[in-house]
Amino acid sequence: MARPQTEAPLHSYLLTFMKNQNRTSAARRLAPLVLLPLSSLALAQQHAHTHGLLALDVAVDAQSITLTMEAPLDNFLGFERAPRTDAERKSVAAMVQQLNAADKLFVTDPRAECRLGKVTLASGVLGLGGEDKPAAATPEAPAKGAKAQDAHADIDVSIVFNCAKAPLARQIDVRMFDAFAHLRKIDAQVATDQGQFKRTLNKATPVLRWGR
Ligand SMILES: [Zn+2]
Repeated sequence: MARPQTEAPLHSYLLTFMKNQNRTSAARRLAPLVLLPLSSLALAQQHAHTHGLLALDVAVDAQSITLTMEAPLDNFLGFERAPRTDAERKSVAAMVQQLNAADKLFVTDPRAECRLGKVTLASGVLGLGGEDKPAAATPEAPAKGAKAQDAHADIDVSIVFNCAKAPLARQIDVRMFDAFAHLRKIDAQVATDQGQFKRTLNKATPVLRWGR
């Protein structure tokens, strides 16, 4: 059966795109960094918006550990809209500061010898990270137009640790419950070369462990 005509331009576009991708080694090295958080994000988005709950995906690669999380803004702020008062603006600033200092919130296994790399925050209602991360900002878009009182809004966070021996990691000490009082439960999913692990964390059991 003949392929529909409309597919041809897309096909040739993809070929051109792939050729361009291969032209520079820099682009090739960048590709896993770009693709990984997005695929993790897709997993996180299967979770419902439940106050107190945070969906965390952890991907352990050869030289990095990438944490991707999606959570109701309420978990961090106690509200889910743009700040209206000085006190609320201070809360947002404090949250951004805390999340950017992610190595205080997520203490990686010392065996993996990690250092905090890039932290990316995206939340449409707060105007965070909308432009350079369109895929992450899209789910927040309806909240902007909706009545602010009733709307729910999330924040997406991506944290990259650069590690000398990432595959040796077997745990992350999660200190989010001390930092954010509204947070009650973390549904975590860990992807490593040892397999996939699902864990539930709370204030009483805050250490994420996996593997042997
Ligand atoms: Zn909500």
